[in-house]
Amino acid sequence: MESGAVSVADTLSRKADFPGLLTADGAPWHYLDSAATAQKPQAVIDAMSRAMGADYATVHRGVYARSAEMTLAYEDARRKIARLIGGSEAEVVFTRGATEAINLVAYSYPDKGRVLLSELEHHSNIVPWQLAGWQVDVCPLTADGRIDLDVAEAMLTREHTMVSFAHVSNVLGSVLDAKRAAELAHSVGAKLLLDGCQAVPRLPVDVAALDCDFYAFSAHKLYGPTGIGALWGKAELLDMMPPWQGGGAMIDQVGFARTTYAPPPQRFEAGTPAIVEAIAFGAAFDFVSAIGLDAIHAHEARLVAQTRAALGAMNDVTLFGPEDSAGIVSFLIDGIHPHDLGTILDEANVAIRAGHHCAQPLMAKLGIPATARASFGIYSDEDDVAALLSGIERTRRIFG
Ligand SMILES: *Cc1c(COP(=O)(O)O)cnc(C)c1O
Repeated sequence: MESGAVSVADTLSRKADFPGLLTADGAPWHYLDSAATAQKPQAVIDAMSRAMGADYATVHRGVYARSAEMTLAYEDARRKIARLIGGSEAEVVFTRGATEAINLVAYSYPDKGRVLLSELEHHSNIVPWQLAGWQVDVCPLTADGRIDLDVAEAMLTREHTMVSFAHVSNVLGSVLDAKRAAELAHSVGAKLLLDGCQAVPRLPVDVAALDCDFYAFSAHKLYGPTGIGALWGKAELLDMMPPWQGGGAMIDQVGFARTTYAPPPQRFEAGTPAIVEAIAFGAAFDFVSAIGLDAIHAHEARLVAQTRAALGAMNDVTLFGPEDSAGIVSFLIDGIHPHDLGTILDEANVAIRAGHHCAQPLMAKLGIPATARASFGIYSDEDDVAALLSGIERTRRIFG
């Protein structure tokens, strides 16, 4: 760890830095739904509050000092987000979130041929391709819930112009061998988009080392605000993509006869951007990088191992996903619907997710309507796991 960095243990002892982790009466709230959205540290809330208060002004157009400062802060956030994933700032487009980032590529990428998806994709990485008119092929999974890259290799043809896979599954927690996926895509001339929603908060990510072509993620799963995310794309690809939304800030010259467009990333940021959210996204980067994603990953891996071991020892529990899942544990208990489990756990201040997790094709593949899902974050600890386990015992007594 770099000197001056904060350890995960320090962060845990500052659990109170996350005001969202208490119930209305001030009791600990065992929040195990960080894969849906992460709680926010006070530093991010403060950055957002300052940007919306004393520092507030528009970006890009103002001639007054406040606007110039706001523009610098907005572009500084872009630099931080680029650094987070090992890209350059000219290659980072701010979007409303991962969903809009994937839509942007699905609509704007000029060579719309066949796209290879997988059975574990989030609806956000399925529906945009369908809507934008791509031919969709689907790669199956291995028995332990990974995208089966041997089958992907056999399926890929020269007709495929895109491969779009989750870097980490939001249901199973399985981590993609993204480097190999990039090699396979490139071997047939296709590009690789990685849906990094669950990877960016849980693993060190380096788009240059992975050699992917596009990378999409949301701020709100990385301890930042809702309403903003990012698309990273290789400069030469963004350069050849036309704008997909028109408006202010994305133009070069506008005339009724002819309009020309700004270069990327501005070309893809029509209208007044999410200024306040971008700055708070930058603050989320500062928070996470002070701890280090290696440390966060190791911390979550310990909690996953603990939870899987405890649940695996119960003979009425089915666990999904591989042993080395990143931060996410999906499971079912015989005779107890996940929604009932979730409701009874809620009475004990334990919040899990129950449902299809925006992955209906995966549920169909597994032959189940839903799973229960516990997912971890920086602030999760052994107490949260213990509360989950005792809540499961209580649910079993109620249903037994
Ligand atoms: C959450 C999530 C999305 C969608 O992200 P939004 O923030 O809703 O745009 C897409 N893919 C995965 C894997 C996710 O976990």
